[in-house]
Amino acid sequence: MKSHARVVVIGGGVVGVSTLYHLTRKGWKDVVLLERTELTAGSTWHAAGLLPLFNMSYTVGQLHKYSVDLYKRLPAETGQDVSFHVNGNLRLATCAQRMDEYQKYCGTANTIGVPYQLIGPEQVKALWPLVNLGDGVDTPRIVGALYHPDDGHIAPADLTMALRKGARSGGADIQENCEVTAASRTPSGDWRLTTTQGEITCEHVVCATGNYARQTGRMFGINVPAIPVEHQYIVYSESAELKSYREGGGRELAVLRESDASYYLREERLGWILGPYEAGAPARFADGVPEWFGKTLFDGDLDRLLPHVEAAQRRVPVLEHCGIKDIVNGPISYTPDGSPMIGPAGGARNLWLNEGHSFGITAAGGSGWQLAEWIAEGEPGIDMLAVDPRRFGSYCTRRYLIKKNEETYRSVFTIHFPDEERPDARPSKTSPVYDKIDRLGAVWGQRYGWERANWFAPAGVERRDVWSFRRSNYFRHVGNECRLMRERVGVIDLTPFSKHEVTGPGAEAWLDGLVANKVPVKLGRIALCHALTKRGGIRSEFTITKVGEQHYYVISAGAAERYDSDYLQRMLPRDGSVGLRNITTSRGCFVIAGPRSRELLARIVDVPLDNGAFPWLTGQVIEAGYASDVYALRVNFVGALGWELHFPIEHAHHLFDAIFEAGKEYGIGMVGMRAMESLRMEKSYRMWGSDMTRDYTPFEAGLDRFVRMNKGAFIGREALERQLAAGVPHRFVTLQAHDVGDADPLGNEPIFAPDGSIVGRATSGYYAHTIEKSLAIGYVLPGYAAVGTELQMEILGLRRRATVLVESPFDPDNRELKA
Ligand SMILES: Cc1cc2nc3c(=O)[nH]c(=O)nc-3n(C[C@H](O)[C@H](O)[C@H](O)COP(=O)(O)OP(=O)(O)OC[C@H]3O[C@@H](n4cnc5c(N)ncnc54)[C@H](O)[C@@H]3O)c2cc1C
Repeated sequence: MKSHARVVVIGGGVVGVSTLYHLTRKGWKDVVLLERTELTAGSTWHAAGLLPLFNMSYTVGQLHKYSVDLYKRLPAETGQDVSFHVNGNLRLATCAQRMDEYQKYCGTANTIGVPYQLIGPEQVKALWPLVNLGDGVDTPRIVGALYHPDDGHIAPADLTMALRKGARSGGADIQENCEVTAASRTPSGDWRLTTTQGEITCEHVVCATGNYARQTGRMFGINVPAIPVEHQYIVYSESAELKSYREGGGRELAVLRESDASYYLREERLGWILGPYEAGAPARFADGVPEWFGKTLFDGDLDRLLPHVEAAQRRVPVLEHCGIKDIVNGPISYTPDGSPMIGPAGGARNLWLNEGHSFGITAAGGSGWQLAEWIAEGEPGIDMLAVDPRRFGSYCTRRYLIKKNEETYRSVFTIHFPDEERPDARPSKTSPVYDKIDRLGAVWGQRYGWERANWFAPAGVERRDVWSFRRSNYFRHVGNECRLMRERVGVIDLTPFSKHEVTGPGAEAWLDGLVANKVPVKLGRIALCHALTKRGGIRSEFTITKVGEQHYYVISAGAAERYDSDYLQRMLPRDGSVGLRNITTSRGCFVIAGPRSRELLARIVDVPLDNGAFPWLTGQVIEAGYASDVYALRVNFVGALGWELHFPIEHAHHLFDAIFEAGKEYGIGMVGMRAMESLRMEKSYRMWGSDMTRDYTPFEAGLDRFVRMNKGAFIGREALERQLAAGVPHRFVTLQAHDVGDADPLGNEPIFAPDGSIVGRATSGYYAHTIEKSLAIGYVLPGYAAVGTELQMEILGLRRRATVLVESPFDPDNRELKA
């Protein structure tokens, strides 16, 4: 075995081998893969080999598309057949909401370029003659289906071997029967891996260890939130009816998915494979894979499968005539949100994860492609936030993962409503005033482990979401919260914000080199700053306030805590001139906003609040009620006169009570996340993670006013210069969608020119209650961005007229903010 390599990939499943292959495609030849037993011995060997293109995520959708395209060309490239059956994929729908889900997905598919067809029951029957369309009594009636002609199934082991061949011909080494047992750093900062075949040092380590991810993480001192769950499929014996259909010239039937009954069915030779995603499947190996588990399977649990077997038999009656040959029950890696972890492991330099794959055969190509890009170029080629390992935080404890991963597994086929909030392992992280807010009627959601009030049910209204792709039960109440904020004064608990303290003599210069805007120099000034990637894309958004000499308070999105913290930590100068502290949980935050907010605040603070004394975009360290050391910042995300109070967490109860006591007179009320979404939309405020991603530069995002090209060096500046010289390829727009009925844009809708060509995509959308318009924000090609341009947008399958509006359709001159 080599004693040094540039990259060592740990794990010889399809994901590890794909990563190796793609590293060689980037020209990195000095790369080694270590596998504890033999290639494919983990989950890869027993996978059913399905390659579903369907995925609601824009990022994962792109990864899957890349895989399917790659797998088609691999045999020609490597000389190794992969048994890719492009027999298509048919997802049935038995209810209108399922069709809504498919329609919503089709918007994403359109923007990614994945071919699909939405078909009716007759076409389903024509494509799949053995299907029972249902009578609506014993078997639900099929109302339509989503058909992907381009995907199908593959032989996972053959695929791995083709990737191995490609990697080897690109110069990579593969060492089987070589288990990595320990990891440490060399004095020069390289990795030193101890293995059963000796030591190897390397610059980068990629972990692609499937079910072993947690114990691999422990070797490196990190918590990897992936715990496998049992997953089974049934192999049936030969089907006489299928045989005669095929012998009569019928082509291989598409993979059939009855989403509403939570199973897939595909041909296997002349029999079937039936794979349910059942309730009650247990998490396994929470403490690591035991020694005895080799190329092993669990015992099958037919009882658990039975309801799905019966549903499948009703839908495909010929199944009843087939005997069960085998049940394959293996561990399938899961993460709390069901997406894999691809990218830098937080907390350790040059440690990369390609873990947590539950659709790893499908995602292997795409994940290897982007991870190799990231390692070799320092950046992925597409926005990878949805799969970035740092989207998970320390709340992902063992117990949380067991609960959440089991829930995610059984929810694979549930309808993925945009407003869905899954109930398990909650509440976990709460603001100190959670109970008080709860008593005010909060209907809770969860993000990054935090409970956040989505909306407030007035007395007598049921505190429950009816999830939907359309306007739902909370629509009216969210509207009332918006009006409360615009007309009186509202409070939002934004305690989950990520908060960092940056101090020291080097603080200003260091921050200034990280972000495109000028970091505030004057005490009390606030600046909205964007950290860019080397390619100029938007990586993070920080609100930076100078709260003291050599002292900055840095706020970013709640869900970005680990993502931003890890980045800031990595970028710190080593000379000790800058101090960095994550103070997320030591400060709470209440937003107090609306036209009466000044009067309210005046009752609990002793500083003047008029524009002269406390102008917009400034902050002061003040006392509020009995609380000291409160950072009062005159900014907010709802476009109203208002302040964010960031206070030492121990004052949360007192301040909350004081605010509500003082606010009685002004008609104060709580405002939830959904109202905030509506309010920020009518101000065209971009949201980090959806509207601001590394796919777009600040110039494309229309954030030119936050970029100071002449201030000196900052990360991403050269890329911005190149973009300015070459021309900015997209423009940010705010659009009004017309005649939408009850379905507003929600993001990921394709935008069309009058000639029918796709010219952009919406990145967010919502109904703007106070201006009574259905709005979307997003990106279009430069020729389509002028105010007044008439475009079209596809919302749940229907083309709607969409007009480009002036930025910030509510209060474009910011009079309210500056009132
Ligand atoms: C029943 C079943 C059906 C499935 N069907 C499908 C499907 O149809 N489509 C689909 O896309 N996905 C499917 N999956 C999921 C798919 O199998 C996995 O997502 C995929 O195989 C994961 O690949 P991997 O390379 O990440 O992990 P694995 O294949 O598990 O590989 C990890 C490798 O790392 C090695 N390793 C671990 N620790 C070390 C160490 N310390 N040193 C060296 N080597 C180490 C292991 O030996 C193992 O070989 C299915 C899963 C199951 C259980």
